Amino acid sequence: MRPAVFLDRDGTVLEEAGYLDRLERLAFFPFAIDAVRLLNRGGFAVVIITNQSGVGRAMYEEAFVIRAHQVLDERVRSAGARIDGYYYCPHHPEAEVEKYRLDCDCRKPGPGMLRQAAADLDLDLSRSFAIGDKWTDVQAGVAAGARGILVRTGYGRTSEAAPQRPVEPVIVADDLIAATAWILRNGQPSPEPRGER
Ligand SMILES: [Mg+2]
Ligand SMILES: [Zn+2]
Repeated sequence: MRPAVFLDRDGTVLEEAGYLDRLERLAFFPFAIDAVRLLNRGGFAVVIITNQSGVGRAMYEEAFVIRAHQVLDERVRSAGARIDGYYYCPHHPEAEVEKYRLDCDCRKPGPGMLRQAAADLDLDLSRSFAIGDKWTDVQAGVAAGARGILVRTGYGRTSEAAPQRPVEPVIVADDLIAATAWILRNGQPSPEPRGER
C-alpha cells in the first residue's frame, strides 16, 4: 500500500476562481505541477479531492467537472507529472437539482472521497496527507485517518485567521510547494524508481 497526498483543487492546485465554470478560468498556481512531480518521485500517490456543489446548485454540469479534470490531467502529464485519481462531490444538502440534494459523506469535511480513493488505489491512509486552503479539507483528512495541512493560498489566510481551529493541522504552509517540501522532509516517503518519463 502506498501513502497518498490528497490535494484540494481550487485554491490549492488551481487559483481560486469562485466557482470554476469555464475552462478559460482554469489556472494552475505556478508551482503546482512541480509539487505534484516531487510527490510522485517521493513515492506518494497524488489524488485530487474536490467539493463541486456548483453541480447541485445548477451552475455547471457534472460533465464540465469531468472535462475540467481531463484538461488538468493533460497539462500535468505533458509536464512529466502524474495525478493518480480525481474525486469530486457534486452534492449539497440544499442543492437545487434534486438528484444532488443529499447529505452525503463524500462532501468534505466528510472522509468519503478519501476512503473511496484509498479503496480504489490501495492507499495507506495512516501514512497519507490531505492539503487544502479550507479547514474542511484538513478535517476530511483527519477524519479519514490521514494528517492535514492547511495552505495559505486561495481562502487559506482567511481560514488561518479563524478564531477557532476545528482540527489541528500538522503544519500551516505558505503554499503547495512549501507543504510538499515539508512532507518530503518529514513524511517518511518511500522512494520509487526515478528517471523514466
Ligand atoms: Mg479550496
Ligand atoms: Zn457528496
